[in-house]
Amino acid sequence: MIASVTRHNWTLHDVRALFELPFNDLLFQAQSVHRQHFDPNRVQVSTLLSIKTGACPEDCKYCPQSGHYNTGLDKEKLMAVQKVLDAAADAKAIGSTRFCMGAAWKHPSAKDMPYVLEMVKGVKKLGLETCMTLGKLSQEQTQALADAGLDYYNHNLDTSPEFYGNIITTRTYSERLQTLAYVREAGMKICSGGILGMGESVDDRAGLLIQLANLPEHPESVPINMLVKVKGTPLAEEKDVDPFDFIRTLAVARIMMPKSHVRLSAGREQMNEQMQALAFMAGANSIFYGEKLLTTGNPQADRDMKLFARLGIKPEEREEHADEVHQAAIEQALIEQRDASLFYDAASA
Ligand code: SF4
Repeated sequence: MIASVTRHNWTLHDVRALFELPFNDLLFQAQSVHRQHFDPNRVQVSTLLSIKTGACPEDCKYCPQSGHYNTGLDKEKLMAVQKVLDAAADAKAIGSTRFCMGAAWKHPSAKDMPYVLEMVKGVKKLGLETCMTLGKLSQEQTQALADAGLDYYNHNLDTSPEFYGNIITTRTYSERLQTLAYVREAGMKICSGGILGMGESVDDRAGLLIQLANLPEHPESVPINMLVKVKGTPLAEEKDVDPFDFIRTLAVARIMMPKSHVRLSAGREQMNEQMQALAFMAGANSIFYGEKLLTTGNPQADRDMKLFARLGIKPEEREEHADEVHQAAIEQALIEQRDASLFYDAASA
């Protein structure tokens, strides 16, 4: 068994050495570390809701919500508090344990803060963990969110400090680190990660992970996103990331931040089931359900639960009701699997 070590002094040399390991050795190491801190057959499920969409003044080159690019996205004002609470109740019903609310802002305004705080209090009352992503925060705003009961704040570093200027020019890397420091000071948990496939080098991927792992405390959640190429954004024509390089990055993140939840988030819908299974093997143990999944039917949620059943994975930290919903989905998938194998048996008899 390879011993898991929690460190905050990673160098580029160390991380390059991990990226250069043969694929199977890297996965073995990541899986060994993963098993020392987590049940390898549990995956956390969170839901993300956009509470204010589009017309963002920032110029993140990957983002369809930036007001700098014409992506044909429907803009929406800040959602009414009750609508957000209804969506959170739906998320709980499909088995999510954490509800993340995102607003396309440079930073929240004084006018919007009271509504945002009401959302945090209301979602918490439903028994869900709360997470928000609202852009840059002042120290006072951070404290107000913590006082309202916010559990997590999401603020991604996106990429390495060296590559960052190619992607965003309206906010600095050090401003991002400052917001993360305020979040920690206020006693909240951090969700912070990045995006692969923006034209960055392997050293940039290493550089991002070094920034995250060398924070005074590792972020509790580390989302690793695959760029979703949206027409109208400057990165729409970027080259695809090699799927094995994506898995390698997950595995390196798992080794460097052994106790964090490593999340497969944006881009998961473009991954086939085999790639998702490999991602779980590499130590990813968290997924997102997007807001579209809060509508009737939840085909993606059903697909996810069927994949979980085929892999023997269960959702982590299940609430009582969600437990029943998941159990039903898993049982249904098992019945379908059994029916299929009966068919094969009959055909070969
Ligand atoms: S700050 Fe967020 S919403 Fe705004 S452009 Fe950047 S990624 Fe998009």
